[in-house]
Order: sequence, then structure tokens, then C-alpha cells
Amino acid sequence: MADATTDIICPFLIDSGLSRGQAVRLQKTLDTIISQHNYPEPIGVLIAQSALLTALLASVIKFDSVFTLQIQGTGPVSMLAIDMTADGKMRGYSRFDEKAVAEAYEKVQKGAATVPAFFKGGTLSFHVEMKDQSYQGITALDHPSLADCVLEYFKQSEQIATALKIEVAPPSETQKGWTGSALMLQRLPFDKKTAETFSEVEIDDLWETATFLLHSATKKEMLDEQLPIEKLLYRLYHSNNLHFFIQRTIQFGCRCSKEKVINMLKSFPEQDRQEMFVDGKIKVDCQFCGKSYILTAEDL
Ligand SMILES: [Zn+2]
Repeated sequence: MADATTDIICPFLIDSGLSRGQAVRLQKTLDTIISQHNYPEPIGVLIAQSALLTALLASVIKFDSVFTLQIQGTGPVSMLAIDMTADGKMRGYSRFDEKAVAEAYEKVQKGAATVPAFFKGGTLSFHVEMKDQSYQGITALDHPSLADCVLEYFKQSEQIATALKIEVAPPSETQKGWTGSALMLQRLPFDKKTAETFSEVEIDDLWETATFLLHSATKKEMLDEQLPIEKLLYRLYHSNNLHFFIQRTIQFGCRCSKEKVINMLKSFPEQDRQEMFVDGKIKVDCQFCGKSYILTAEDL
């Protein structure tokens, strides 16, 4: 698994710790999630963007917690969910009206904004599920792109200055499979020592330069599997006191099991459950991976 250039996330610091960043590049993970559902290209693009955002935002979770990004729309796409465990297992699915999505995609290709075209309105929410507590954030889908909605969330709810760049290429562009990459930079609150080292004007200038450099990364560089992520970051930030942390890998992984399906069915009222039986069996498909579970009255 040495020297992987895709399906990894690379955390870093620049400017003596004034800003922290994450760089992520996904390939196999996206391919698996999108192709196992046989999603059309526009849904693939939205899944890929959401998966990259999930990888960036989930980097804060620890141990056995799970991070979920969920989008509920009122337009052609009614639901999109991606979740990721602390050990990098990611999965996702979407619910949509195929004809309406195809029409929206035509508009997007002519320059219409993504979020209003596909989701019309609705919410984007994050949920962190830990052993003994949970945390949730929510933002309205009222900006042109999913990245813009996330930036607005950080600005309004967290008051953290954030810069974000996402690039996605479908198989029709890469001749390989789905590829996506994202870069995120966040300004950290500075301590007394930093305040003694830099003036406020210098800190603002460093942030401005750092975000300018982030946006200078090209789509080609971000998606080029021959270019390791650290090399890309080095190109961008070699003169900004760049410091890397340990990279982590991401891969597709579903957590469904017969036991979980049984527990879910047991939570339904007895009468509803009885109505689900067909020829003495209940068939349940996992919405994430498509695996079918067939249960009998004895299982329950
Ligand atoms: Zn599953």
C-alpha cells in the first residue's frame, strides 16, 4: 500500500501553524460507490463532490465515531448521503428523479448553478455520531455549489475563515474511472506567541497569499495520479513553512449486516412488520451497497 497517490487524505500546516489544511484525492472509492449503484453521470458528480467534502470534514472524528453528510433537496435530487468511519470506510447513495436530473444537467452544462438546478432548496447537514455523544451542523442549500454551502456554514456557524477547491472528473473525461480531489485551508485561532511573532497585517497577508495559492492549483494537477499529493502541496506551499502530518487511506466500506437489518425490523410495529412478509419472507436491500437480506419469521 506504499506510495498510494489516490484514496488518501493528507493533513498539513503552513505559515508556522497559522493555517491548517487537508488535501484529498479519491479514485477507487468513488468508482465503487458510483458504479455499484449504476448512477447517471450528474449524480456521480454530486456523489463525488459530497464524498470529497465528507473526507475533508470527517478528518476531525476519532476512534469508533461515524461522520455523515446528508443533503435533502426539494428538486430533482431529494436525498444524497455519504458517511465515513474514523478508519476511512466510506459509502453513499442518492434518491432522485432520473428524467428531472437529466434536464437539470443540461441546464448546468449551459452554465446554470449546480445546487439550485439539482436540489432547488433544502438543507445540507453534518452529523458526528460518537459513543456517548453526537454533534450536528446544518446549513441551507442557498448557494450556487455544494462547496459554497459548506463555506457559508463555516463562516456563519463556526466563524472559521475557510478556503476550498474541489475538482471532479467523470470516466468520460479520464478514460479510467471517477477521479476527484479537494483542497481545504482553515485559519487557526492564534496564540500569544504567534501574536508576538506576526502583526495582524502580516497574518492577514499570509492568509490572503495562502488562499490565492490554493486556488492556483489546476484541475490537471489535482487529478493527476502521477503527481503525489505531497508534491502538489510542496509546489503550492514550499515557501510557506509547510509541515505534513501522516496521510490516511480511504476506501469503500459498508457496515450493513443481517443483525442490523433484524434490529431495524424489530423496531417497527408488529402489524407493519407482518404486512412486509411475502411468501413467508421479508426482503430488505441495503440502500448503500445494494446487498439483499432475506429474513424469515424465525430470524425475527
Ligand atoms: Zn450495505
